[in-house]
Amino acid sequence: MYPPGEQPPGGNMEKFWSKTEQQGECIVWIGSRDKKGYGVIRVDKKMHQAHRFIYQLTIGDIPNGYVIHHECENKSCIRVEHLTMMTASEHSSHHLRNRKPRPPKTHCTQGHEYTEANTYEWVKADGRKGRYCRTCHNAGEKRARASGNRKPRNSYRIR
Ligand SMILES: [Zn+2]
Ligand SMILES: [Zn+2]
Ligand SMILES: [Zn+2]
Repeated sequence: MYPPGEQPPGGNMEKFWSKTEQQGECIVWIGSRDKKGYGVIRVDKKMHQAHRFIYQLTIGDIPNGYVIHHECENKSCIRVEHLTMMTASEHSSHHLRNRKPRPPKTHCTQGHEYTEANTYEWVKADGRKGRYCRTCHNAGEKRARASGNRKPRNSYRIR
């Protein structure tokens, strides 16, 4: 690894490091970014992702089918100690495993609490679980009955 200020043999890295900034443990790219949020740098008239560029320069080639994963989860970080090479499939399963489950909502959009008594749960046709707020549901039923056009709901199976 070539720390900021130092240059790998044969390369002028001053420009590269001038586009980086130490942020905590990470060395963050502050130059241009691509659509996905990765730093990009133009080298010999070709665009490179900054983290892949520095990885190849300091660690070695990235074979076809391999991706560079950020252990620090900071896409714009180019510190090679934070970069790990893995296959594309390893990479996607890694991210699936680490996806944080969203905490379930405690209240419906109208602000009624999802207590046991106020929550109706069902299993949708595709096997996923759904639920609704009984207070809102009942209010909706009442409105529908009053307006006289109550349509049966067939979009889910009740278990
Ligand atoms: Zn980092
Ligand atoms: Zn990753
Ligand atoms: Zn509600």
